[in-house]
Amino acid sequence: MHENKVSLKHPRATSLRIRAKLVHGFEIGVTSAFGLFAHGRGEAFDYLIGENTTDNAKQAIKAAAASLLLGQNSVLSVNGNVAALVPEELVKLAKTSKAKLEINLYHRSKEREEAIWKVLQDVGAKEVYGLDSKYHETIPEIHSERRIVDHRGLFIADVVFVPLEDGDRTEGLVRLGKRVITVDLNPLSRTAQMAGITIVDNVVRALPLLNATVRKLRKESVESLQNIVDKFDNQQNLSQAIQHINRRLNGLAKAQGAQSAGGNPE
Ligand code: ATP
Ligand code: MG
Repeated sequence: MHENKVSLKHPRATSLRIRAKLVHGFEIGVTSAFGLFAHGRGEAFDYLIGENTTDNAKQAIKAAAASLLLGQNSVLSVNGNVAALVPEELVKLAKTSKAKLEINLYHRSKEREEAIWKVLQDVGAKEVYGLDSKYHETIPEIHSERRIVDHRGLFIADVVFVPLEDGDRTEGLVRLGKRVITVDLNPLSRTAQMAGITIVDNVVRALPLLNATVRKLRKESVESLQNIVDKFDNQQNLSQAIQHINRRLNGLAKAQGAQSAGGNPE
């Protein structure tokens, strides 16, 4: 179903529209079948979070914006899910934060890379790394197909933005000394746990906010940006994300119990 065909009256219209974008991405060869499963896992956590951007996510977004602006060589890694969900926002973010875009896929194929490149081009991308094998470099710390990176991009990057990332690759990038920023709805995933800055939010909500925050912080001094990054504590932020889910579920459990008439009438 196309996203425009989802009825606005449906109680879960937003979620269904996001799904429709991904299904469309799958149909045009941008998203892999594995990407659809990954989205399902994300959705489950979004349900628990309450499908809203939390205060702790906003704090992580601010630190991420500052970190991207501080990077000498910031690179935004593009996979099939983010290309299907937020291509315009990614291209915008590359412009506002002067970062490079690089296509880097877990389930790699020439066709999928080309399909993603086309989507990015359609929304205004001029230069995208990762496609030309002349510049391919292998990172031995990473075990999947994603070990192949672009010499001009991820290979030399100091700050990397890797939304919806796999744990192995995050670990490899951290081990290489890169500052890793991720967006992940699951605060317990290895990626969320290992990254330097984890935005626990849906990428669909987080990217527009990240763009707005980059625009707001663009004029700030290096010292003030550094101060924002230094004050941010990812472990504390993750703890708040888990506490948020905990509090919310406790509240829901109490409200559910209060509806009880005191025993089953049968
Ligand atoms: P890890 O490898 O980090 O332990 P995983 O194996 O559980 O994670 P992957 O498939 O490797 O999961 O990565 C996908 C991650 O992206 C999951 O943690 C999932 O919750 C998250 N995710 C999926 N869709 C979204 C979305 N729209 N916004 C934010 N996060 C998402
Ligand atoms: Mg994984």
